[in-house]
Amino acid sequence: MDDLLDDKAKIEKRRAKDETVRCATPVLWIIIPCYNEEKVLPLTSEMFLNKLLSLISAGDVDEQSKLLYVNDGSSDETWRIISDLSVKDDHVIGISQSRNRGHQNAVLAGLMEAKDHCDITISIDCDGQDDIDAMTQMVAEYKKGSEVVYGVRSDRNNDTWFKKNTAESFYRLLNMMGAEVVFNHADYRLVSARVLKEFADFQEVNLFLRGLFPLVGFRSSTVYYVRHERIAGDSHYPLRKMLALAFDGITSLSVKPIRLITLMGFIVAAFSILGVIWSIVCFCMGRTVSGWASMTSIVCFLGGVQLIALGVIGEYIGKIYLEVKHRPRYIISERTGQFYQKESDR
Ligand code: UDP
Ligand code: MG
Repeated sequence: MDDLLDDKAKIEKRRAKDETVRCATPVLWIIIPCYNEEKVLPLTSEMFLNKLLSLISAGDVDEQSKLLYVNDGSSDETWRIISDLSVKDDHVIGISQSRNRGHQNAVLAGLMEAKDHCDITISIDCDGQDDIDAMTQMVAEYKKGSEVVYGVRSDRNNDTWFKKNTAESFYRLLNMMGAEVVFNHADYRLVSARVLKEFADFQEVNLFLRGLFPLVGFRSSTVYYVRHERIAGDSHYPLRKMLALAFDGITSLSVKPIRLITLMGFIVAAFSILGVIWSIVCFCMGRTVSGWASMTSIVCFLGGVQLIALGVIGEYIGKIYLEVKHRPRYIISERTGQFYQKESDR
């Protein structure tokens, strides 16, 4: 009976039969977000293709596997480079976003594009910083039963002292503030199509992918790798953007900051009661003229506390505002490469 079914039907039958059964050669789509990467792509694209071809020839993944480049509204030659790559090799395909939407949205666009066409995805930056050889181990972990495999940096010796410390404080701060993230894991991860289908129901606009996948659940594992330096070009994540990302991560995943404000409110209220008692005592003792300095400091302190509190609450209201609009999280304007041939072939 199986012989009569084409490949696509076989895949669907296998999924329907038992979601937990691992295919010996899953169809892998590698998702690579690119923003103004004309300097780095010509160097790393060959590396990615060779890795994919070696996984295929080793029998680790299916011949139908693809490299999906996501152009995040680049203003340089990135999209032309991707289009050329897709003409040269059928394993390479590309989508282009209508404008720059940021790394997280670019990865999301790739994942959503991939989810109905493959068994597993691996997202990786295009700058060659993440060790591509960790993919072999990720696929092996998937075959052992993990639905999500997190790539975790084993050391940061290649980072500057400043980058290492700010990045590690970033993960500590996130966890302290109630956003559950895997320490030292960025966006290099394997996610199965099964998890992506559940993840598609997470409709949020404020995206912080590394904090969302732990929320989806399913069996997960980690693979350690050494993070290299960028092969060419410059990072798009200076300290300012990293702080913004941390803030986005915290406020989109946790309400702990609002709880801390409530706690702070209680503490300040308790102190104010003491202050009121103190001022009544002073009044009774006839010492009410002096005390200008203490009065001014209290007013300034309370003014500051209130502004911070308003700011944090405002941040949440801003997030709600963006969420209720339900704007599309990405818009694909162009595609390149043999996308659907695979579908009809199967
Ligand atoms: N990126 C993107 N859109 C952006 C910024 C970055 O798609 O608006 C991509 C970028 O091309 C790279 C990845 O996201 O593949 C990570 O960016 P980068 O290497 O600059 O960050 P870093 O590794 O320094 O944190
Ligand atoms: Mg990088």
